[in-house]
Amino acid sequence: MLTNFKNAYILIVDDTPKNIQLLGTILKNIGYKIIVATNGLQALGILEKIKPDLILLDVMMPELDGYETCKRIKATDNLKNIPIIFLTAKTQPEDIVKGFDLGAVDYIVKPFNSSELAARVKTHLELKFNQDMLQTLLNFQRDMVLMTDGEKVIAANYSFLQFTDSKNIEEFNQKYPNIMTFLDFGTGSDKDKNSSLKLQRLPNDEEFQVKMKTANDITLIFRIKQNIVPEKEVSILSLTDITQLENQKNSLEEKASIDELTKVYNRTKFQQLFKQTIEENKINPRSICLVIFDIDHFKKINDTYGHNKGDEVLVNISQFIKAHIRMSDILCRWGGEEFTLLLVGSNIEDGIKICEKIRMLVEKYPFIEDRPVTMSMGISQYLLTDTLESFVARADNALYRAKKSGRNRTERN
Ligand SMILES: [Mg+2]
Repeated sequence: MLTNFKNAYILIVDDTPKNIQLLGTILKNIGYKIIVATNGLQALGILEKIKPDLILLDVMMPELDGYETCKRIKATDNLKNIPIIFLTAKTQPEDIVKGFDLGAVDYIVKPFNSSELAARVKTHLELKFNQDMLQTLLNFQRDMVLMTDGEKVIAANYSFLQFTDSKNIEEFNQKYPNIMTFLDFGTGSDKDKNSSLKLQRLPNDEEFQVKMKTANDITLIFRIKQNIVPEKEVSILSLTDITQLENQKNSLEEKASIDELTKVYNRTKFQQLFKQTIEENKINPRSICLVIFDIDHFKKINDTYGHNKGDEVLVNISQFIKAHIRMSDILCRWGGEEFTLLLVGSNIEDGIKICEKIRMLVEKYPFIEDRPVTMSMGISQYLLTDTLESFVARADNALYRAKKSGRNRTERN
């Protein structure tokens, strides 16, 4: 497939008819399709209508010479990737360098050897074909794919350009002189154009998450994978949009941690948060109190007013208490009409005051029209020797005593 370029279009630009004829004959004999122009302006006119696969460009021409023609072609977005080979009688190094600087891929010195000419044309058609294939492959990816030297983007696919609202790579590099200012690793960097920033924190084959904003200011989450090209000092990044996955994960996690009826934390989440609090306490020790409380004679409420009313009381009491505790306090439905409350940063005296305040507020609030709803509470303060079980057991013991002593009260242990 790569050796058959019979369908390739080659534009020959030369002001000498003899050259055109010679070149044309060689190339046509191979099987290429030929288009000709006798000066730079005419070539530019043809390029507005036809996009050849390669251009053979004479340097010395009247009006618009080869260098200027090349410059204009390279400045045109949809033409700049067409390979240009200069045809020149000039063999001075500075002339040759100038041609390459303008973006030519090769030069052929006149008078030319026909087999050398054919070989060079074929090589550059193959290169162009491979590049186009690669770009097509990249564009085929829904993921964003880009190649970078750690600072600048060298190549990118259509998804990437579209996401960054850039016409081409040059435009992207102008907007973001450093790729690191574009990728938000959530490190709180102030996105200044700090040139010392270099993409190096991505070890090969490891995956990272970054947040990026779309042109419409929507933040999306991407998983980045980096592959370093050995000995080339470039790496290829692929960025997969995982925003939806992350949102699903978060909502599932939330679902798994919330009591369905009352919308306060469930027992599993409470245990997790307790562990976390104890870990944090090793670094930053504070007083912690645990309260276990339940609704007095809850069975009677269910029996008298029905289970729906009972559920309604549970929901309303949970939300009422949640509204009267601090942000740092952790409320959980332990089971049935039983709740736990973790008070972080409160000693037992403060904890009792909090319990009494809540208990009295609940007693006064009309959860049921014709009778007050009361609660019994047991509280214990965390000891370094405590496990969650022993901590809960002591508070539970205090709750038992509160019940025994007539309910609607707080006991400590
Ligand atoms: Mg000439």
